[in-house]
Amino acid sequence: SDVPLTSFKVIVLGAPGTGKSALINQFMTSEYMDGFNFDTESGSSQTVSVLLDGAESLLEFQESEDDRYFDASEEKADAYIVTFSMTDRDSYHHAIDVLYHLREEHYTPAVVILVGNKTDIVRQRQILVEEGKSTSKTYDCTYTEISAALNHKVDDLLVSTLAHIRNKLKPK
Ligand code: GDP
Repeated sequence: SDVPLTSFKVIVLGAPGTGKSALINQFMTSEYMDGFNFDTESGSSQTVSVLLDGAESLLEFQESEDDRYFDASEEKADAYIVTFSMTDRDSYHHAIDVLYHLREEHYTPAVVILVGNKTDIVRQRQILVEEGKSTSKTYDCTYTEISAALNHKVDDLLVSTLAHIRNKLKPK
């Protein structure tokens, strides 16, 4: 049938080297989901279809430059994923700056998810789980830790991103 799919836009923000590209690439190759790339006029974007609770939606991912003051009014999104590297405290502070900016500029109530990446590098971990959780409380967002390299928790993140978006859209 030709039922149009709902499409949501997700912008991935975070310092260079934190794994934004690696994460989006893993989303595209999710085994039980149908990822595809296509070019839009505004540049290249990557879209994956996700089946949740019997309904399919499209998530369009866009990686934003490492600018914590990017203009979200020009780039409206349904969700922002803010990445940092577990092995790089500077990238964690960068992520906090981004969260602060999103809040101050009132780009929430979009869904915001703070993502600590590179959990596979256990010995060089610099950020404690408690810190990530505490920051996510301060900025009223969700916190999750993943390894894009090992594809650990990446599918969970994909599905929960859609779940959070749908939940926000529900009339209260
Ligand atoms: P971006 O600049 O934020 O897009 O980061 P990239 O996706 O280009 O990743 C930066 C570097 O970190 C690359 O060398 C990746 O292979 C590496 N990387 C990304 N994710 C992980 C991860 O989960 N674990 C490890 N060990 N390395 C990762």
